Amino acid sequence: MSWLPTLIKACYFLAALLFILGLKRMSSPRTARGGIVWAGYGMLLAVLATLFLPDMHNRGLIVAAVLVGVSAAWWSGKRVAMTAMPQMVALYNGMGGGAAAAIGAVELIGYARGLGLLQAVPDTSPLRPEAWAVNGLPPALSPTELALGVLGALIGAVSFSGSLVAFAKLQGWLDKRFVFPGQRAVNLLLLAAAVVAGVLLATSHASPALIAAFFALALAFGLMMTLPIGGADMPVVISLYNAFTGLAVSFEGFVLGNEAMIIAGMVVGAAGTLLTQLMAKAMNRSIGNVLFGSFGAASGEAQAIEGAQKPIDAADAAVMMAYAERVVIVPGYGLAVAQAQHKVWEFAQLLIKRGVKVKFAIHPVAGRMPGHMNVLLAEAGVPYDLIADMDDINPEFPATDVALVIGANDVVNPLAKTDPASPIYGMPILDVSAAKHVIVIKRGRGTGFAGIENALFYADNTRMLYGDGQAAVGELVASLKDIDA
Ligand code: NDP
Repeated sequence: MSWLPTLIKACYFLAALLFILGLKRMSSPRTARGGIVWAGYGMLLAVLATLFLPDMHNRGLIVAAVLVGVSAAWWSGKRVAMTAMPQMVALYNGMGGGAAAAIGAVELIGYARGLGLLQAVPDTSPLRPEAWAVNGLPPALSPTELALGVLGALIGAVSFSGSLVAFAKLQGWLDKRFVFPGQRAVNLLLLAAAVVAGVLLATSHASPALIAAFFALALAFGLMMTLPIGGADMPVVISLYNAFTGLAVSFEGFVLGNEAMIIAGMVVGAAGTLLTQLMAKAMNRSIGNVLFGSFGAASGEAQAIEGAQKPIDAADAAVMMAYAERVVIVPGYGLAVAQAQHKVWEFAQLLIKRGVKVKFAIHPVAGRMPGHMNVLLAEAGVPYDLIADMDDINPEFPATDVALVIGANDVVNPLAKTDPASPIYGMPILDVSAAKHVIVIKRGRGTGFAGIENALFYADNTRMLYGDGQAAVGELVASLKDIDA
């Protein structure tokens, strides 16, 4: 069976190719679904190949654990509502970080055993079977392996506890914000203490108490770092933890000498880092702010909003758009809640048939996860060439007759540009107020994710079409058909 290690390496190579090509396909909504499937096959291949590693122990236990994980993921993945996707991503991401930290813990415990410090711990790790089999002693880690193992464990543990807090917040189980005086100093202290413990571990001072303290500090830092973060900053945090998890997995892959883990971790780490940067830019938050929490907080008195909300009925709104030259439709989280995407596309098609130029404008953080609106519009069959990004569409608003905002709030709030006291101040927005007329569909006076008032709804050129997204657009469709009849 001398060919087996080569075959396993070949499988890892193929899996790595599938991860990279899958990720490439995810860069366009046209090919994204296929990209996810390709990456999934890559992971399946890597897991199967790993089971055939020579001297792998405890295969039965591993297969049982995989089956439990796959069943839970399959069940929850099928059931989860589109609107609950961010918390699910946070949870799964936390599991990845926790797994990397657990590998780090096993390696460190093994290392401590090697130093004769931990006789009581059984040597049944399936992770480095060939070395553990020698005299029942754990492997000797090189200084680089030890350092990377500690770093991976630190990052993985932070990602684990941080992601769980993010999950609990998005699920509504935790208050959106948890702030106390001196919080930044406490966070920095926790991080410094965890780093010192890590450095001690990495320089051969492993002891059971130090290992326990190291993990406790890392977990506490992840917790404390995420608790103060609330409102519109949560997506950046989830994406940052995603990058953390990738890095942690990659470092632990290095310790285990597992190429598939190194490459998969690097791919996730790089993609997560790019996404974090993109989202931070879209929300005008620096990564430094993300790391040390309690940002995005309002300071000073909020700007008073003058005027009143002015309602419009569906028939009048339909007439305005029927005779418009250009209409830009801006979907937001409420469109997802109302599942209005199919009705909206039906409405847009009716307008297009009348010769109206229709476009869809998508803000990078509209909805509750990156790409949320793109996925919904793609599901409804909206052609990609009608969908414009924020930077491309913003210069077009002054030449737009009607901007139709459906269930969007924070991403079109002009206070982000005008009120330094606003928690979303500095976040780039879709400039819908520059359009000649704005029609906003929402159920009532509910605030958006950031929980603040929106000056757009009170503007002179804005009319409010109150109602559930799907029902209101349904009325617009009916009114437009009446005009055409
Ligand atoms: P918002 O959450 O700001 O606003 C949604 C609006 O939709 C609400 O004001 C609500 O008003 C309305 N609404 C809710 N249900 C319905 C319904 N059934 N029919 C019609 N309207 C409805 O959404 P945006 O998309 O503008 O902004 C996204 C926010 O989420 C940003 O703050 C972003 O930072 C944050 N976020 C984004 C993530 C991402 O990755 N995209 C992840 C996590 C958070 P009413 O109750 O009156 O109907």
